[in-house]
Amino acid sequence: MNPPDPTLRLKVDTAALADNWRNLDALSGEAAAGAAVKADCYGLGVETCVPALRDAGCEAFFVAHCSEVEAVAKHVPAQQIAVLHGVINAGEIAYAQGIGAAPVINSLDQASAWSAAGGGMCHLMVDTGINRLGVAPAEIGNSAVQALEIDTLLSHLACADEDSDKNAQQLAAFEEVRNTVPHARASLANSAGIALGSAYAFDLTRPGLALYGGVPRPELDGSIRQVAHVEAAILQTRTITAGDTVGYNAQFRAEKDMRVATVSLGYADGFMRSRGPGSHLLHGEKRLPILGKVSMDMIVVDLVDAPELREGDWLSVPFNLKNAAQQSGLSQYELLTTIGTRLRKS
Ligand SMILES: *Cc1c(COP(=O)(O)O)cnc(C)c1O
Repeated sequence: MNPPDPTLRLKVDTAALADNWRNLDALSGEAAAGAAVKADCYGLGVETCVPALRDAGCEAFFVAHCSEVEAVAKHVPAQQIAVLHGVINAGEIAYAQGIGAAPVINSLDQASAWSAAGGGMCHLMVDTGINRLGVAPAEIGNSAVQALEIDTLLSHLACADEDSDKNAQQLAAFEEVRNTVPHARASLANSAGIALGSAYAFDLTRPGLALYGGVPRPELDGSIRQVAHVEAAILQTRTITAGDTVGYNAQFRAEKDMRVATVSLGYADGFMRSRGPGSHLLHGEKRLPILGKVSMDMIVVDLVDAPELREGDWLSVPFNLKNAAQQSGLSQYELLTTIGTRLRKS
């Protein structure tokens, strides 16, 4: 028996996603834009997003883990999938070689192990200053690195969303490294890096956040559309009287009689407590303030401006990522990737 329709839903606007990719591809100038599709397309769903990106023209897809390859490979050739964490044991090497996805080699050990197992086309991450993954520039001369068959030489910017001297320093370091190892293509910029200008674009850019509606730098402001639209249904309405309190720890106290609605959305759906106080849900243009603490699966909103609403009516969750991040203290990345699986629909 199929379960009934859920009381909360996520609508992914695939036309907006495709537009965002096209705009980022155009902003990448001579370079082609790829797409970071790790973490289930930042929470919005590989099943929905990857075909839309592919149909828009994207030909390079970045996942973090080997375990993420299979879902993406249902929609695009495995050769177009790069695994950012690389291959960290024999099982992962065999898997990448078997399925035909290319690992991003991140260390001398990974380089040697990959070649020893038969090698094949791969990518190479060089660390120019973020100090997470990647071989150091000083290690590039190592024979294990020089023996690799490198498609894309990558590095990753630490501060692309800020005006930091570190951006130019990493760019210079990357330019230098490019002369020291053979590679077919070079790639440095994430979403924010694209906004830093054509010097950062090289042959391939790797936007993630901005594809899904995030705006990491003001330069991207007019180019990015909202992709995620979250809606939740009213479960119950009630009238409370002056002095009544709402929710855990009785944090909201009514000063007068008022009509309120309990809505099917909580922190288990990614609607964190930091988004409660001072924020609201929407019914059309009407703002319905959130009252009291966010519970695991419910929130309560004030119906003073929409007394006609009833059980089963849908409210939308403001999901302008830039505004929601400012209001909640969460990053745009966290807001997206914590969208719960209960919301997923189309
Ligand atoms: C996640 C990731 C990206 C995408 O970054 P955004 O800031 O989301 O555009 C690009 N490159 C690497 C190496 C990443 O890990």
